[in-house]
Amino acid sequence: MTPLIYALVAAAANVAGGLAVTRSARRGLAFIEGMVAFGAGYMVAIALTEMVPHALELGGTGAAGWVLVGYLLVHLSQHTLTPHFHFGEETHAVSRKAGVSALVGLLLHTFFDGVAIASGFAVSSELGLLLFIAIFLHKLPEGVTISSIQVAGGTTPARALGSAALLGAATVLGVLLTEYVGFLVEHGLALSAGVTIYVGASNLVPEFQGKRGWRLPFAFFLGAGIFFLTQTIVRGLM
Ligand SMILES: [Zn+2]
Ligand SMILES: [Zn+2]
Repeated sequence: MTPLIYALVAAAANVAGGLAVTRSARRGLAFIEGMVAFGAGYMVAIALTEMVPHALELGGTGAAGWVLVGYLLVHLSQHTLTPHFHFGEETHAVSRKAGVSALVGLLLHTFFDGVAIASGFAVSSELGLLLFIAIFLHKLPEGVTISSIQVAGGTTPARALGSAALLGAATVLGVLLTEYVGFLVEHGLALSAGVTIYVGASNLVPEFQGKRGWRLPFAFFLGAGIFFLTQTIVRGLM
């Protein structure tokens, strides 16, 4: 039950990100841009120091191969089969087809967001809660990404919002299936570790790598640092 509730909260954040786009909330969007960098630091930290070690503990060194599969799967779905995709707000016109393929690509990733939450709770409520935070932090940018690419492709605000809701639904489905599908029970943590490394280091980091100033790098390092702080707090609570 618990992982499902967390997945529903994460799904709601997808829709909230979409709403920021369809209602053109400029200040909200600027805040969400900062969350991209902060969330990237947090995700890279949790993937390398918690997800990968636990996946190896559960599946032996062979689990490393599944981490790689998770990483490659995101590149395949978002950047190989998809003509145009990047994280963050879409600010230029794109084809309608680009919007559809971006949605399909993101559905795979958001499904594994759910797999990560459920696999985390299967290890311990501590890891589950920390993974929920990692997922939650990039759910708003995710909603912005999909809704803005839909709007840029010429769809209606309602459909743009519907796409964000679909991403949320994929996360909920990821949680539900991880509890029943043997393959995901066994390899879910390793696969979602690979997905999390990709999303943090290869989707989110490139979004601010080329930007000047100290704010975004600071948010990135802060995200990694805050991960260890929340880890200490959650350990104290559990
Ligand atoms: Zn673009
Ligand atoms: Zn995600």
